[in-house]
Amino acid sequence: MNIDKTSAPVTTARTPVTVIGLGPMGEAMAGAFLDRGHRVTVWNRTASRAGALVARGAHLAPTVDDALRAAELVVVSLTDYDALYAVLGSADPAALAGRVLVNLTSDTPAKARAAAAWAAERGATQLTGGVLTPPSGIGSPDTTTLYSGPREVFEAHRATLEVLTGTADHRGEDPGLAALLYQLNMVMFWTALTSYWQALAMADAHGLKAADIQTLAVDALNLKQFVEFYAPRVDAGDHRGDVDRLAMGVASAEHVLHTAVDAGVDGALPAAVLDIFRRGMAAGHGADSSSSLVEVLKKPNT
Ligand code: NDP
Repeated sequence: MNIDKTSAPVTTARTPVTVIGLGPMGEAMAGAFLDRGHRVTVWNRTASRAGALVARGAHLAPTVDDALRAAELVVVSLTDYDALYAVLGSADPAALAGRVLVNLTSDTPAKARAAAAWAAERGATQLTGGVLTPPSGIGSPDTTTLYSGPREVFEAHRATLEVLTGTADHRGEDPGLAALLYQLNMVMFWTALTSYWQALAMADAHGLKAADIQTLAVDALNLKQFVEFYAPRVDAGDHRGDVDRLAMGVASAEHVLHTAVDAGVDGALPAAVLDIFRRGMAAGHGADSSSSLVEVLKKPNT
């Protein structure tokens, strides 16, 4: 397919696709394309992982070069960018040339930019993607992937990409942007989820099961009202202590740590939170909102 910027055609729902990498995510993606009637070629380091997909009609390419040659649109879903180079680094440049590499492998923004340049040197175009759903959400109309890279190339393939997640959201030209947004999502996700594991450990020490605090956890982890309240204030540099004060936050964080220690469970996470709060106090933010911690966190902890 011609991907020249001046004449990029829009792909159809039946565009042939190649999927490289058949972990849980790549397998779900190849399956979603099969469900929608695409001709799907797959390749995986461990070829046996393709068995179920082949039984459903996927073609298993014997080599990476064959997989690349089978379709212009190549979805790449690997553990990280080291794996990307391990797989594509020895590919025939002629097989890479002209491909659109939809790189849904997560890693740092810098690595995403480097990989886009690496692809461009070989005549390929990278669209970087950050998938905001687990494999169970692949193929659903209600899920989202953030993309960045050349908009015209994205638009030419949008319909096909919407097979994977109902929303394919192009956020900008910078190939590192989607990787950045994905990592911003993950720093919030992993930290919040670990806070839930912490709460369950503390609850268990007191004989409470996960079911006993399920409603409490759902409500506590829903930070929508806080995000909507603080976002405009932080953007305006407004850390007034009219609603909350960091000094109060320190006292509260101490109570959390003491409750964990008293229960005999791991206190590393509450101690880390308290450490950040105390650094905010030391920086003179005691009478400010806890949002002033953003200013503390903008600098490395030396
Ligand atoms: P996995 O880590 O399970 O994917 C593993 C894939 O990478 C397999 O195909 C594996 O091959 C291949 N691989 C790893 N190292 C190498 C290597 N050195 N050489 C060749 N192939 C290699 O991840 P997932 O499938 O779960 O996810 C894929 C990507 O999607 C990741 O970047 C992940 O961060 C991202 N993602 C995952 C989500 C999830 O919930 N799973 C959610 C959102 C994004 P083999 O089978 O041979 O081991």
